[in-house]
Amino acid sequence: MKQAETIATARAEIKRLRQNGKRIAFVPTMGALHKGHISLIREAHRHADHVVISIFVNPEQFGPHEDFEHYPRPLEKDLEICRKEGIALVFTPSEDEMYGYGPKQFSIHIHSLNTHMDGGSRPGFFEGIVLVVNKLFNIIEPDVAVFGQKDIQQFIILSRMVREFNHNVEMIVAPIQRADDGLALSSRNAYLSPEEREMAPELYKALKYVESEILNGTKNPAPLLTQVQKELQTKGFKNDYLSVFSYETLTPVEIIEKGFSYILAGAVYLGKTRLIDNLIIEA
Ligand code: AMP
Repeated sequence: MKQAETIATARAEIKRLRQNGKRIAFVPTMGALHKGHISLIREAHRHADHVVISIFVNPEQFGPHEDFEHYPRPLEKDLEICRKEGIALVFTPSEDEMYGYGPKQFSIHIHSLNTHMDGGSRPGFFEGIVLVVNKLFNIIEPDVAVFGQKDIQQFIILSRMVREFNHNVEMIVAPIQRADDGLALSSRNAYLSPEEREMAPELYKALKYVESEILNGTKNPAPLLTQVQKELQTKGFKNDYLSVFSYETLTPVEIIEKGFSYILAGAVYLGKTRLIDNLIIEA
């Protein structure tokens, strides 16, 4: 396994890996790797000859009061996981390497796919993600890129970016990996106290309950969503959002119609930790 800290080294190594028409699959991450990331790496191996991963805590996607400084960065442990998982190249650029050109002259604007869900709660978040993934795609030039359903809005926005900007990348989404009690794995789960960790799966349970009611024929989920949010609040969660969104437009829907795809998604705070989760519903 090679590690590249500069764009030039990464490009040279990619060129070498590509010899004899070999295909490259790419998994962008912010590190603090867990079984969710590992499942993406294993999926990536199924689509290419070599798997490349990036580990970069991207300052552009953090708001001024978010956890950029405290985000876990266990690099040695991450590299060990990458070695075990047969990664060919780990790209670990510094902030300076990625953004060292001084104040930006260009901005990315997303017209509407970021109005709701995490985009609604975290201004600038998806612009930061689109910027960094755009850069990473230009550096790595992968044939395939694998993302997690855990961040479904990210996958949908980036898929649209690939289409509009003609990146020559096949986009693949992999299922959410969960702990035995249903909690979606996340690098941020490390922030949870033991008591909070015990409560955390309630978000998933709430989503599963709403999903079962929808699959049983509930057409207007609004009263149910209000009830579930009240219950979460009583248990000590602070609600951010919990709604059913159109898979196409990522806008909230009032009435579930047969034959359409929906995303049932929620975000809550448990203490200072923000948890997100979602289920895809084919009505
Ligand atoms: P992050 O390091 O949080 O930026 O995530 C890197 C990639 O891993 C993204 O595509 C995430 O959607 C994906 N990911 C994070 N958590 C999970 C999970 N529990 N299951 C599957 N994929 C995940």
